[in-house]
Amino acid sequence: MIIENVKKILSELPDQVELVAAAKEKNAEDILEAIHAGVKIIGENYIGEAKRAHKVVGNQALWHFIGIPHKQKHDFLRKSTMEMFDMIETIDSLKIAEGVDRICKDIGKVMPILIEINSGREPQKSGVLPEDAEALIREISKLQNVKIMGLMTMGPRFGNSEDSRPYFRETRKIFEQIKKIDLPDVEMKYLSMGMTNSYLVALSEGANMVRIGTKIFGEKTCDAVKG
Ligand SMILES: *Cc1c(COP(=O)(O)O)cnc(C)c1O
Repeated sequence: MIIENVKKILSELPDQVELVAAAKEKNAEDILEAIHAGVKIIGENYIGEAKRAHKVVGNQALWHFIGIPHKQKHDFLRKSTMEMFDMIETIDSLKIAEGVDRICKDIGKVMPILIEINSGREPQKSGVLPEDAEALIREISKLQNVKIMGLMTMGPRFGNSEDSRPYFRETRKIFEQIKKIDLPDVEMKYLSMGMTNSYLVALSEGANMVRIGTKIFGEKTCDAVKG
């Protein structure tokens, strides 16, 4: 099923849109199947899982971190983690950006990052509040070994995907504002928003990177992790 699912999604996505296959709780076999069907980017939430899959899959895909850094700080702020990931999509504080910057300096790498926006202003969710995004981006942009490449948002979870629209729209607005002020060393290239239930709405609000798990890999095997 994974192959059919990926092919269908890829055939429907506009050319300039990047598909990130969100692979939490998925093993290397499933990930390889998705790659063989045309997936180019794997999104991982958990460092341990990511490293186990990466051992098998290696550089047959790019690896994006889409989890919460400060919940696994010990594993996250390591050379091996910074070596394996090609992008961190979920940076939401200067402190965590400085941690990434410091390690990437050591390994001679400039890490592409996205700034996560807490577009729903949900206290339990990660991400910087919309009104604080520009100030954070200005600070992080001064770091030499991270490179801001865009924004990411989850938005609140709804049964009806239309309810996500205002949150995607607000994130797009920030994206355009930051693009307009044209900060040195900031490239507003990627707008990562939309998941299985909401990616069509996200695309219509300007997303050019979508993170899709369930529609590729099927329902989760256990529901211990809910975003
Ligand atoms: C799990 C997850 C996704 C994919 O969610 P689905 O509803 O399974 O498509 C996307 N982004 C993040 C950050 C996730 O944790």
